[in-house]
Amino acid sequence: MVMGDMEMSTDLLVIGGGPGGYGAAFRAVDLGLDVILVEQRQRLGGLCLHAGCIPAKTLLHLTQLLDETRRAKKMGLHFGEPEIDLAALRNWQQQVITSMADNLTNLGKRRGVLVLRGRARFSGAGAVRLEGAEISGIKFKQAIIATGSRPRLLPGLVLSPGGRIMDSTAALALTEIPKTLLVVGGGYVGLELGSIYASLGSRVTLMEKQDRLLAKADADLVAPLQARLAEQFAATHLATRVEGLEETEAGVTVRYTQGGKTTEQPAEHVLLTIGRIPNSDDLGLEHTGVSLDSRGFIKIDDQLRTTDARIFAAGDVTGGVMLAHKATRQGRIAAEVIGGKKVGFDVRAIPAVVYTEPQIAWCGLTEEGARRENIPHAVQRYLLQDSGRTMNGFTKLLSHPADGRILGVGLVGGDAEGFIGEAALAIEMGALAEDLALVLHPYPTMAEGQ
Ligand code: FAD
Repeated sequence: MVMGDMEMSTDLLVIGGGPGGYGAAFRAVDLGLDVILVEQRQRLGGLCLHAGCIPAKTLLHLTQLLDETRRAKKMGLHFGEPEIDLAALRNWQQQVITSMADNLTNLGKRRGVLVLRGRARFSGAGAVRLEGAEISGIKFKQAIIATGSRPRLLPGLVLSPGGRIMDSTAALALTEIPKTLLVVGGGYVGLELGSIYASLGSRVTLMEKQDRLLAKADADLVAPLQARLAEQFAATHLATRVEGLEETEAGVTVRYTQGGKTTEQPAEHVLLTIGRIPNSDDLGLEHTGVSLDSRGFIKIDDQLRTTDARIFAAGDVTGGVMLAHKATRQGRIAAEVIGGKKVGFDVRAIPAVVYTEPQIAWCGLTEEGARRENIPHAVQRYLLQDSGRTMNGFTKLLSHPADGRILGVGLVGGDAEGFIGEAALAIEMGALAEDLALVLHPYPTMAEGQ
């Protein structure tokens, strides 16, 4: 690394300190590369640690506890109504985040990754300018872009801090528990956050433009959750497209179309979770050979190379499945390719978990995907009520009818988050349904359902 004139140079520049970026930087240093990571936030961890996975999962942990105590009544255990101390709760949430951020910082330091705080923009071939940093620019031999994504908003909508229309980041800050909340969007973020607010006492209504929730999961896996939400939420309106939101003194005016008719309705607070867009628009990519697709995601090949020979990309900014573990794997693969290894991103099963009550998880081929693409498949279902734990929900295993190779697994209920990892392992190892059945699983657990 050469310092001079407030400029530095490095073998590998990583832009973004989220799961994609730190995954790449840590692996690259382990391979002996000279690495600088630039992150605009104060701490490493990205969206996932600061405004995504971890703040959401800490709150879900807490609300699951709340729901358990409520359910305990049926088992003869009575708790009083809980007192919710929002300030203490936020403090606890922040402690979890800080401790994980410290851990990441230490992992980076121990390895010798140089982390610079600032905003990077490409300024020419092999060079970036930095904003808000002590160093003005960096020259690099190779770079990995891992700048992530941000919430998609409705056209023309601008959110004001502390306003009545929130994105997921504002909702996770939990500044208040509104009496009523309209959640727009029935993907996993809307469902997880809607469940949190409902458990804490908000009357939650959900609007989703498609005629189903969680469109990427099989409908039969979603049905038990939908039944639970019918009790938990005030209403769920499917095939209802929110066209516009306008903040007024008294609340928010919601314009939506349902059954071909457009109507307006007031709401007290709104949480907008209609997807995410890539952070690729303010990166100076016009100074590079990097190409974007029609939605602004960076085009990559299976070795994470962009259309510019010097530059790779990983994580949400490349689109597809937008999950932290996928971002980290992509980052690591990009670093390995740069380090000279002959590897590629070749993953058959990216596990997805929706941390609602009941939980839903799946990986590999879905049943609807198999039908859509005419892939031969056999399906085995196991009702969890038949397991030793008499849980609600079921497991579903898709295998190839000719040789029994496991193609996909779906789970709803029980310990879905714990078990989906075993399903991913089985698919990646090319296991047969019979192999899974021959493994002695502990009784009574969800895993015996395979
Ligand atoms: P990010 O984590 O977004 O990191 C990108 C980083 O780049 C950011 O820190 C940003 O500040 C920085 N950056 C951007 N531009 C620049 C620049 N020009 N210069 C310097 N720095 C820059 N995924 C899961 O797997 N499990 C979950 O349970 C889960 N829960 C979620 C819950 C919510 C509410 C949300 C919104 C998301 C959740 N996700 C979850 C998705 C997960 O957070 C993302 O897939 C993951 O963070 C993507 O990692 P990344 O490294 O690509 O991007």
